[in-house]
Amino acid sequence: MEGGYSQVKIFVTGGAGYIGSHVVKALGEQGHDVLVYDNLVTGNRWAVLYGSLVEADLADRKTLVEILRQFKPDAVMHFAASIVVPESVAHPVKYYFNNTACTAGLIKAMLECGVGKLIFSSTAAVYGTSGVPPIKETAPLAPINPYGTSKMMSEVILKDTALAHDDFRYVSLRYFNVAGADGQARIGQAYKEATHLITRALKTAKGEMERLDIYGTDYPTPDGTCIRDYIHVEDLAGAHALALDYLASGGASEVFNLGYGHGFSVREVVSAVRKITGIGFSVAEAGRREGDPPELVAANEKIKAVLGWKPLRDDLDHIIRTAWRWEMKLGGK
Ligand code: UDP
Repeated sequence: MEGGYSQVKIFVTGGAGYIGSHVVKALGEQGHDVLVYDNLVTGNRWAVLYGSLVEADLADRKTLVEILRQFKPDAVMHFAASIVVPESVAHPVKYYFNNTACTAGLIKAMLECGVGKLIFSSTAAVYGTSGVPPIKETAPLAPINPYGTSKMMSEVILKDTALAHDDFRYVSLRYFNVAGADGQARIGQAYKEATHLITRALKTAKGEMERLDIYGTDYPTPDGTCIRDYIHVEDLAGAHALALDYLASGGASEVFNLGYGHGFSVREVVSAVRKITGIGFSVAEAGRREGDPPELVAANEKIKAVLGWKPLRDDLDHIIRTAWRWEMKLGGK
């Protein structure tokens, strides 16, 4: 495995989900041997373009350990999680169980099976309202919703595990707002209930939703709506392959932000979606959604310097265009 691009075996939890499936695609294209472990609650069998799929739950310890022992992966990538901020406010225990407890369970199984490298999907939500944007990795962690707290707690477990076990190293990638779809429109967001802004705007343009609500127009931002750093899912996927190489060549445990370093307000996203689709769908100003920080924008110098990550698709129009192509195709899935 040392030295980069030779074939490695990667165990991917949540690999049938939106982000996981794009990473599986990237790993498959590089010729790696991928095994996806997914309960298909939010994931889809058709989204797994490479490797094989085991349909099982992370909470099913027996199956998890059995599959890890059989497959003997060089590394694990852990995407399986619940990710909807407002849902986490309403159902915190679901988030602490699915995200924090299941991450602890996965780490425990990895230690038992002698698997010592993990790439973890973390989130900008760990920062909450701390720090001045662009937010550096060193900013204090102060999540303002259970989703962010569940991921922050997972990071604490990872850190302590790596301190205690020399043969366990990890990279935690703090995603900002992941959007867009496969350039060939084979995979993309396909949640039963769309909650993310770009997808909801596209579904409104498509006529699936009557109107798009803007959640809060009185934030301390230039136009009063929240600002997010939207990153194309394929650029995000590329960072995972780099993180794998980094760990394979002996890199120490690290945490990296993954975003473009600049953001767009909800109103700017709405204008861009109207422009790209050519559809002037209706928009209404609504109250704030619980748990939303006003601005989340990444400082991304660290991942560029240490992993050599390059943003190749830093273009909101491109993000929306790929998501729109995918959305138009999605009816057939
Ligand atoms: N948002 C909105 N209307 C929607 C969905 C989202 O105004 O129908 C806002 C949301 O309040 C937040 C931003 O868009 O300020 C991004 O939300 P999203 O759910 O896409 O991602 P999050 O930042 O919560 O991970």
